[in-house]
Amino acid sequence: MSLTVTGATLDGEAVGLRVEDGRIAELGGEVTPRDGDEVIEADGSLLVPGLWNAHTHAAMTLFRGYGDDLPLMEWLEKKIWPVEAKLDADAVYWGARLACAEMIRTGTVGFWDMYWQPGATARAVADAGLRAVIGAPLIDGGGAGSDEKLAKLKADIERSLEELAGAKELISEALAPHSIYTVSEPSLRWIGERAGEAGLPVHIHISETEQEVANCVAAHGVRPVAYLDRCGVLGPRTMLAHGVWLDDAELELIAERGATVVTNPVANLKLAVGGVFPYPGARKRAVALALGTDGPGSNNSLDMFEQMKFLALIQKHTAADPTVAPADDVWRIAIGAASPLVGANGKLGAGEPADFLLLRSDVPELTLGEATADLVYAASGAGVVDTTVVAGKVLMNGGQVRGVDEIRERVVERAKRLGIA
Ligand SMILES: [Zn+2]
Repeated sequence: MSLTVTGATLDGEAVGLRVEDGRIAELGGEVTPRDGDEVIEADGSLLVPGLWNAHTHAAMTLFRGYGDDLPLMEWLEKKIWPVEAKLDADAVYWGARLACAEMIRTGTVGFWDMYWQPGATARAVADAGLRAVIGAPLIDGGGAGSDEKLAKLKADIERSLEELAGAKELISEALAPHSIYTVSEPSLRWIGERAGEAGLPVHIHISETEQEVANCVAAHGVRPVAYLDRCGVLGPRTMLAHGVWLDDAELELIAERGATVVTNPVANLKLAVGGVFPYPGARKRAVALALGTDGPGSNNSLDMFEQMKFLALIQKHTAADPTVAPADDVWRIAIGAASPLVGANGKLGAGEPADFLLLRSDVPELTLGEATADLVYAASGAGVVDTTVVAGKVLMNGGQVRGVDEIRERVVERAKRLGIA
């Protein structure tokens, strides 16, 4: 199947783009449709790479608005965990479908997910047409390791990989140890070995709270990043979510190992973690970076445009310096251009995957000003994204995601069954 976009605007120039077999075949001023092509007349819309949400728990759309404004542990223990104990694959599927619909609508083409029932999320992603890197949360209770914990963890890993084995080609697997405080040291070491052997990425929460750092130093004598490194989990395929409480030595080590930090500014602010990801230090050391929402239960939005603005603002404010985190840098992070782990690294060109957006140029917020700054500081996803294309497939055109009414209905039914709606 082939697709041609005509009359788009790229960096101020009029361009066309032709897609064959999921990849960009031609991009430039002279592109014309061929017989049989699906054609989109872009009418001056801005052509940009799609956004990547590099840390989320998609199916937690089910929990959006359920237990807001509570302390983290109270929210988890009293609200989330009791309901998660009753979740089945069907609920996860529809929760993830709702997340995908919101992502498509707001210009996200792919995401890194950590959630229960990974096979259900994979089916939802495949049905929605997005890309995803999916891992089931791996948890063994933390603390001292034991043979039983390790045996259970090994079985959990294999079950999760099995569930994802038949996943469609736009989906890949990760090993997702939940955190250093919910997974024991022998299990973390095993995850490092298993990931290395299978060439799989590792996706883990790290240094989200100051308490986590203090507990790690007390238990292991080193801060969390050095501990991860000692366990063999820190490498170029490691996605470190949060990294709020990283010191300079940890940033050095992350840069040296080539791991990526995915910052989640909105979720950190909403849960009041008390610190801010040290962006200036990370940038100085050329740490690979990505941007995420975290789960829609604790953000609560999946709109990456909102995350971009928050990232820029919180960094400027914390540094008391408006030159920190300029719009161009933030945009590069959000399209995956600042991490080798994220999508096609934000590239648009012949031979690259055909993942792109057409943004309305006729909206007030994009009328004047430099385009990237408008996107970071003025735009919202639902306000500007007209068309979302992933692997050459048009997932949205004209700002409406197909089938969203049915998805909304199904999600409400599942939430009612779980007693949370
Ligand atoms: Zn998370």
